[in-house]
Order: sequence, then structure tokens, then C-alpha cells
Amino acid sequence: MGKIKFLQCRECKKEYAPTFKYICEECFGPLDVCYDFPSVNKDSFSNREHTYWRYHELLPIESKSNIVSIGAGMTPLIRAEKLGKSLGLNNLYIKNDSVNPTFSFKDRPAGVAVSKAKEFGLSAVGCASTGNLASATAAHAAKGDFPCYIFAPSDIEHAKITQALSYGANFISVDGTYDDANRIAAQIGDSKGIGIVNINMRSYYVEGSKTLAYEVAEQLGWKVPDQLIVPVGSGAMLNAICKGFEELESVSLLNNVSNMHMIAAQPHGCAPIVDAFKKHLSEVTPVEAPDTIAKSLAIGDPGDGQYVLRRLKQYNGFAEESNNKEILDAILLLAKTEGIFTEPAGGVSVAVLKKMVDEGKIDKNDHTVCYVTGNGLKTTEVMMDVLSKPQVMQADVGKILALVR
Ligand SMILES: *Cc1c(COP(=O)(O)O)cnc(C)c1O
Ligand SMILES: [Zn+2]
Repeated sequence: MGKIKFLQCRECKKEYAPTFKYICEECFGPLDVCYDFPSVNKDSFSNREHTYWRYHELLPIESKSNIVSIGAGMTPLIRAEKLGKSLGLNNLYIKNDSVNPTFSFKDRPAGVAVSKAKEFGLSAVGCASTGNLASATAAHAAKGDFPCYIFAPSDIEHAKITQALSYGANFISVDGTYDDANRIAAQIGDSKGIGIVNINMRSYYVEGSKTLAYEVAEQLGWKVPDQLIVPVGSGAMLNAICKGFEELESVSLLNNVSNMHMIAAQPHGCAPIVDAFKKHLSEVTPVEAPDTIAKSLAIGDPGDGQYVLRRLKQYNGFAEESNNKEILDAILLLAKTEGIFTEPAGGVSVAVLKKMVDEGKIDKNDHTVCYVTGNGLKTTEVMMDVLSKPQVMQADVGKILALVR
């Protein structure tokens, strides 16, 4: 027997053998991976490779030979003194996950799911994507020698399509929303036995994102932050970050995890979890037609929505939204203070961080970690409205000299 004890239904707690399975037969609840962790201590990880596979004994791959790695993870945790000063925070950190190999945090869940597909001996992989998961899955599929099928709404950014195609993926561009693409991917995955990383591989997929908790804890010297701001689409990442901190407490690497506060950030135009939170509901009402520049968060019917609401309650958190203008302002603020260029999803995090400080929900001395999950080079088209193109000048030093102070 390996380190995975069983899959367990999040709702009715029924246990299942850890196979290619993701939904409870009794109640249709999602299945989570439960482990028998080996004993670890702080030194276990200190001299390891600089990727999230440094935590391999806490991840759901039984044999290291099945790991498909493109070197993702162990991204910088920046002490954001300038941004902190402009917002009024003394202890602000940015987890800059925009610098992963495919330029978003999705390399974490996709890499774990593709590795598990290899362990299961599946013949092909794929995903339903709002943009970033397409490239993360396609790149890992290329490295792991899998054919790859991407299902995505047709209106996602050009760079994200070009990038995924370059890794050799079959790209199915769906005339509809993410939820339409997701439904089609689910049916095709089941009928063809394809490992759709975020659908029928979801139990394993979400395990990759918990490394966003492990790394932050290690980078802070094995401490728990007071406040965490997490951008939310399906809600899988926020839920996984909570699971990650809890697991570190269970192996005695952290204390007082219950004191942290989780803040969920969504864009206006697709903020079903924020709406439910503000109305004190325990279920999410889907948004039919998402409308936001933060396309990677444009999931109208979030799979983990109700679990995010539970996590916010558990961790005394909040949920807040930001509109397109606030997102663009936040992208520029982060770029001009910390030299980090993010896509709108990262702008949503920073804009919501600012609101939380302005509303007094974050104390100026709180150790605050803001997750920046995607790269601005993937979405340059959104910046054109707020930046002016440089005027083309004659190649004449005399004329150009006048432009420089
Ligand atoms: C997918 C994505 C998210 C949201 O993650 P979920 O697990 O769907 O909540 C956040 N930021 C970026 C850049 C993404 O691509
Ligand atoms: Zn169940």
C-alpha cells in the first residue's frame, strides 16, 4: 500500500479506493485524497529541488518515476514594501506565481493531474479551460508524451490559444461559455476514457494547488500568515490552499492554522461566490453570462463555490469583488510599485486587497499574503485602453533629446 489511504467524499464521508474516480456514488459529492503521511520535519525539505515536487511525499503520486515535471513551483514570495506602503500595510507579501513555466499557477494542478494520468496508464489527457489551464495541461502533456485535448470558450485571449497550440494540443474552441466547454469536456472525457485534469482527475488535480500553501509557509520560515487574498474562479485553488495549511499542521510543521483569514476575490460581472457570501447564503446561484476582463475567473457556475463559502466561514474571511476599472488600476499599481506585471486575475487580488485595507478589515501590521496567479504578457490587449502607444519618432537625436528630462 502507498501513502494514499483512500478517496473520501467531502459530503457523506464514504471512502473509496484511490482509482480513476472523482464523484461519490451515494451522494455525488466530490472526493478528496486522504493520506498516511510519512514523518517529515523542517529539514526534510530544505535542500530539495526548487520546484513544488520538493513536497513529493505529500502529493498523490505513489511512484516518483511517474512524475511529469516542467520545473514549476517554488516561485518568489516577494516582500512588497512599496505596494504595502502605498496601501498602508507594514507586512505585505506577494506570492508571484505568474512566473511559472507556462506563466500561471495552473502548472501546479495540471502537473499533478498529468503525473497521475501517467500513474493510471491513461492514453490521453485534456481539460476544460478559461485560458491558463490550457497551456499548463498542454505543456505537461507534451513533456509526458500524451495527446492533449483542450476545450475552451472561443473568446479567450489570443496569447493563451497560441501558447497552447504551440505545445501541440488539439484545441477545441467552443462557441459558448466556460460552463458549456466544461459540460462537453466532461462527456467526452467519460466516453473516451480521457483524463480531463480538472473534471474526472479533479481529486488529484486540486492537490497540486495546495503547494501554494506549502511554499508560502516554508518561505515565511514555517509560519501561517494572518491574511490571505486568493483570486477565485471555480474555487478549487482557495479550497486547496486551506487543505495545504491544515495538512502542514497535521504533520506538526505549523501551529494555529485556525487563526488565518481567507479572503476570496472575484471580478464584478462574474462574482457568484461574493454575491452568495454577502447574502449569507450557503449555496451559489450561477451567473448565466459572465462579463469581465478577468477571463481566467469567468466561471459562472463554480464547482467549488459552496466549499469556498464554508472555508470563508471556517477562517473568518470575506469575499469581495472589483470592477474592470479597479482591476486595470490595480495591475498598474502592482507593476509600478513592485515591478510585477500580472493579468486581470492578479489585478482582482490586488484591487480586493486595497478594498479590504480601506474598509479596515486588514490591520496594518497583519502578515498579509496576496496571491498573484497569472502573467500580464498573456493579456496585453486589455491594457491598450489605459496605456497610450508611444509616438513614432524620426531617428534624430536632436528631436528625441527634447523628450527626455
Ligand atoms: C484558474 C485561475 C484562477 C482561479 O482558480 P480556481 O481554482 O478556478 O478558483 C485564478 N487565477 C488565474 C490566473 C487562473 O488561471
Ligand atoms: Zn458522498
